[in-house]
Amino acid sequence: TKWVYSFGDGAAEGRADMKNLLGGKGANLAEMASLGLPVPPGLTITTEVCTYYYANGQEYPDTLESEVNQAIAAIEKSVGAKFGDKENPLLVSVRSGARVSMPGMMDTVLNLGLNDETVEGLARNSGNPGFAWDSYRRFVQMYSDVVLGVDHYHFEELIEIHKEEKGVDLDTDLDADDWKDLAQQFKAKTEEELGKPFPQDVREQLWGAIGAVFSSWQIERAKVYRKLNNIPEDWGTAVNVQAMVFGNMGDTSATGVAFTRDPSTGENEYYGEYLINAQGEDVVAGIRTPQNLTKAAREAAGATLPSMEESMPEVFKELADVFDKLEKHYKDMQDIEFTVQRGKLWMLQTRAGKRTAKAALKIAVEMAADGLIDEKTAVLRVEPAALDQLLHPTLDPDAPRDVLTRGLPASPGAASGEVVFDADHAEAAAKEGKAVILCRVETSPEDIHGMHAAKGILTARGGMTSHAAVVARGMGRPCVSGAGQLRIDGKAGVMSCAGREVKEGDIITIDGASGEVMIGEVKTLQPELAGDFAKLMEWADSYRKLKVRTNADTPHDTSTAREFGAEGIGLCRTEHMFFEGERIIAVREMILADDLAGRKAALEKLLPMQRSDFEEIFKIMRGLPVTIRLLDPPLHEFLPREEDEFEDVAKAIGADVDHLKRRASELHEFNPMLGHRGCRLGITYPEIYEMQARAIFEAAIAVEKETGETVVPEIMIPLVATRKELGMLRQVVDAAASLVFSEQDHTVEYLVGTMIELPRAALQAGKIAVEADFFSFGTNDLTQTTIGISRDDAARFLDEYVKKDIFAQDPFVSIDQEGVGELVEIGAERGRSTKPDLKLGICGEHGGDPASVEFCHRTGLDYVSCSPYRVPIARLAAAQAAL
Ligand code: ADP
Ligand code: MG
Ligand code: MG
Repeated sequence: TKWVYSFGDGAAEGRADMKNLLGGKGANLAEMASLGLPVPPGLTITTEVCTYYYANGQEYPDTLESEVNQAIAAIEKSVGAKFGDKENPLLVSVRSGARVSMPGMMDTVLNLGLNDETVEGLARNSGNPGFAWDSYRRFVQMYSDVVLGVDHYHFEELIEIHKEEKGVDLDTDLDADDWKDLAQQFKAKTEEELGKPFPQDVREQLWGAIGAVFSSWQIERAKVYRKLNNIPEDWGTAVNVQAMVFGNMGDTSATGVAFTRDPSTGENEYYGEYLINAQGEDVVAGIRTPQNLTKAAREAAGATLPSMEESMPEVFKELADVFDKLEKHYKDMQDIEFTVQRGKLWMLQTRAGKRTAKAALKIAVEMAADGLIDEKTAVLRVEPAALDQLLHPTLDPDAPRDVLTRGLPASPGAASGEVVFDADHAEAAAKEGKAVILCRVETSPEDIHGMHAAKGILTARGGMTSHAAVVARGMGRPCVSGAGQLRIDGKAGVMSCAGREVKEGDIITIDGASGEVMIGEVKTLQPELAGDFAKLMEWADSYRKLKVRTNADTPHDTSTAREFGAEGIGLCRTEHMFFEGERIIAVREMILADDLAGRKAALEKLLPMQRSDFEEIFKIMRGLPVTIRLLDPPLHEFLPREEDEFEDVAKAIGADVDHLKRRASELHEFNPMLGHRGCRLGITYPEIYEMQARAIFEAAIAVEKETGETVVPEIMIPLVATRKELGMLRQVVDAAASLVFSEQDHTVEYLVGTMIELPRAALQAGKIAVEADFFSFGTNDLTQTTIGISRDDAARFLDEYVKKDIFAQDPFVSIDQEGVGELVEIGAERGRSTKPDLKLGICGEHGGDPASVEFCHRTGLDYVSCSPYRVPIARLAAAQAAL
């Protein structure tokens, strides 16, 4: 096996595509060298050595040392200096480099090869003793800290004391004698801490640093990072040993970091910082204020220190050429580290630059437009989940903020408004044109109208899948949930946290992307949906196979979803319409009715309301499919609770309050989610489904007559477990259809299907399919019923499950592909074996989760349906799944 790869002087043994073997840094250094870019020569010890090292009781392969020596000889030859030589010493850096960049790995050691003798040689050769001693003290400090474990604050303290004694403020005020003095003090400090002298033998230094890199693979924070990011333990790290170039040789030397494009906006402008007469991490260390790279950036920032473009125009030009060459070669935005030694440019690192969602989008679209990448590559370059950041207002990053507390980032977007503590107040205030934030301990379905009216929602309790979170995401309202330190006293009209009080009517701002809650108004920026976004979406649509529909219950959500490109409604939950305004009274009347006649009277009142909702939705979705689910939730969700609510219903039907209360308590259930709900309502009270079917058909006919366009409603029966249930309810729907069709002398095409959300239904899919025109996998309930976990109660333990790796992820957020997914596969397969053209979709929260979308693509579903704001995410994820 070859353990060591050399690079430098326009050639290299490695290549960019050898990241697995050479690590990211080593592979790209090799590639840059081969491209003829100025890269200091060096060698890379492969990741296989790391693997070998841990497999063999921390021993190196036999031939490693000789291979390293050989490669060092090549560096010496190229540089014209010798490692450890008193007269003309070669100095090197030792740099770690895993396949993917990994915080927690060993820091780089610079200037290795200096000792009490070589430092004198360096001083003579460079004619710059200040530089030589500065380099030596840096080396002692770094090596002691990183390799020997002597904390760096010891050394910083010594520098501070020295500056004080000398009466100066800045490091730059120190001269050769000062650094020499400090270098001696540093060595003494290390000896004092460790009980042995600082190593003078340069080979010992080198192998010490190499060993430290390999050992750092197993330190705790590196392990934790790997676990969090699913990086396998056996990948190992590479080690790079590279000839030093010096940015600290005076005013014609510098060091810097740069991006070939602006990583936060994506603007095609060089972006970066540099420092004159500095080394390594000085730029990011914050000891001195770095200077802008370009003149334009300096002017925009109003900075006084000259930009590199101004102070070193020649080198800057050369650097700009390198940027262009690298972008053309890698076909992506690059993040670069460079050093200038006495007017000569050296490249020390390049890699694909991290960027915001906004920048990712802009860069992908512009690069495709310029022909640098093709459209497919552009589609693959943008992380679907990151689109979330782009679809909602965000906080102006420059605006000051006064953070009160923090909760969970439950639904993205930022919003400011007056604090209100109940849904009715929220609605009333919104009618007056006020922006409000609804603040609740937790929310329930009864708060929906207030959530709709509010600009944002804040709760003290509840997790990422609490009612507030799910509903807010569906509506596209920013939401911070589970802000546990917040004490909300809605009755008193005040909430408090950490000794601060916020009263009803005070302004707060919430950021649903970070979970922050701020006092006062913080400026927000509006999303930009035209331009680059529209372009990328258009490309994505041309590749995807899955259709993307939306879960929408109201005309408002429906239009939002259409704007985001929804191709129909996959789930319209009729019950959400029941809470609006006066309707709830009629709904309660129906539920509390003693007999069929009473129920029918109440249903008569609901019919026109439902019909007009459906008309509106059919109109907005013009010609696109609309799946309407018949009544699903446990009736108790609609029951009156407060005295005045009972009184309202009593008045409406002329009944007595006590009687109603008795009826209500009769309806009590121990496990409502497994109780009288879903199609069981239709089986016991067919008149409810009959009314809903009638409303749907009358609305469809009215819209067809008015617009002349065909409407094809898809009527969906929830919570079916058996073929018989579906068969009976299908008859109810069919009967309503023929009745309405003959009354109106007009027929419409329609489908009847079911949700597959019980394990039994998935297993019996072959039989159920006989009665169904389509299946929609209701993966929220299917997850609850398959794993036996209640979504509303999961917050208490799910975190622990994820932490302990029992679940890789919250199964309500990303579908449990192994378990719940298997049922979906079985349901799809058995359903289609009965009816090959059975339409299959999914309508749980999972429809907007990229990994779940990929699963649906693989399983051969026809469409996914998700909340309006997730539609673009699903479109992009579906395209990526198909590519
Ligand atoms: P990180 O992975 O933390 O960025 P690097 O190995 O890239 O660590 O090193 C950090 C910095 O050290 C580089 O940006 C560069 O400025 C400096 N550096 C590393 N190697 C050399 C070298 N051979 N000559 C000069 N500076 C170097
Ligand atoms: Mg680096
Ligand atoms: Mg359900």
